[in-house]
Amino acid sequence: MSQPLPLAFLGAAVEVARLPATRAEVALVGRSNVGKSSLLNAIADRKTLAPVSKSPGRTKALGCFALAKTGATLVDCPGYGYAKVAKSTRATWLPMLESYLLGREHLKMVLLLVDGEIGPTASDLRMLEWLRGNEVPHVVVATKRDKVKPSQRDRRQRDVAAACKLPTAGILWVAALSDFGIGELRERIRAWLA
Ligand code: GDP
Repeated sequence: MSQPLPLAFLGAAVEVARLPATRAEVALVGRSNVGKSSLLNAIADRKTLAPVSKSPGRTKALGCFALAKTGATLVDCPGYGYAKVAKSTRATWLPMLESYLLGREHLKMVLLLVDGEIGPTASDLRMLEWLRGNEVPHVVVATKRDKVKPSQRDRRQRDVAAACKLPTAGILWVAALSDFGIGELRERIRAWLA
């Protein structure tokens, strides 16, 4: 098993300009409840690095974590596409997210999380097209692999990839609960932040 990423919370900001300085950054993007906090906790091997939300849509700010001794950072972006988020809130955080993704100088990679159990939603696919259209470097990560029946996994992997217009091997599958794929993801993050 790979070494956990030594992450420490640096701070949260609602404007790119107020984020801590960085040398290299990886961002996590995904709709609320996709398993973003659980994934962050898994890659850091910490129980409470990021709060696992019982009420989706609560986190509205960009949460910044330092990767110890490297000057590199990881940013947890606010979840999008959750119906209960008030329109007024949505109107401010979508531009915030977009200006972060377009304006952060040292952003090396965006992890777009999709729920592996249910597949990409319309808002996931919109975000994916937006990342492609704006040439923001990104990779799709499918979460909750353990929730897909073993007999259906091959099929699901093909279906999720097809929906995302990607080759099957182009999607990284993870399960925060069983640590599946977590080692590989850690290594990739280390490489992007090197
Ligand atoms: P966030 O809103 O994207 O930060 O999502 P959370 O990390 O709070 O997870 C949402 C729900 O999905 C929680 O009930 C988690 O326990 C569950 N969950 C997250 N990752 C996994 C996983 O890999 N496997 C399973 N079975 N459940 C997961």
